Amino acid sequence: MCFGYLVSVAFTAPAPAKVWPAKTPLVITQSFGSFGTYGFQSYHTGIDIALPVNANVFAICDGVVFLNKTTNTYPTAFQNYFNSFVIIKHNCDGDQIFGYYGHVYSRFHEGWKVSAGQLFANVIMSKAATDTQSATGVDQPDNTHLHFGLARSYIRNQWGYAPSRREMMRLGWINPITYLNNSD
Ligand SMILES: [Zn+2]
Repeated sequence: MCFGYLVSVAFTAPAPAKVWPAKTPLVITQSFGSFGTYGFQSYHTGIDIALPVNANVFAICDGVVFLNKTTNTYPTAFQNYFNSFVIIKHNCDGDQIFGYYGHVYSRFHEGWKVSAGQLFANVIMSKAATDTQSATGVDQPDNTHLHFGLARSYIRNQWGYAPSRREMMRLGWINPITYLNNSD
């Protein structure tokens, strides 16, 4: 038996896989770019993933907590719900991208590091959008979900919706499904 040649194989470490922000299979209740259904007359900048209250939320890649707004200090329950975002500045195998994890609670402070797949937040109870007065609000346990968005840059005051599809693209929002499905 004779081996006339040697096959050279370059062993390189596989790129770390991106992790889905919630346990799969995911139930997507509102897709990226769909028209807002809450009367905001605007476009959805992320995806909504149906999850029970307290469901675990995971970092999609390594990163640093950039903003934690889950402080529950707004005057109404719906404002607290709508503004309860964690923004993580991710490094997805060299690709910088901002992850927006909405309707969650997190004990992670700004500046803390997270690694891909790390549990850092939990889904909170949803509140009726029509209840803008009371401090406690009306619970909507049938509508709890994680809002998950990805943007090429830090976008202030655009958590969840953009006024037009064109503006959504201009601001750098991308489709999270497409991004997470692409392992490159
Ligand atoms: Zn959403």
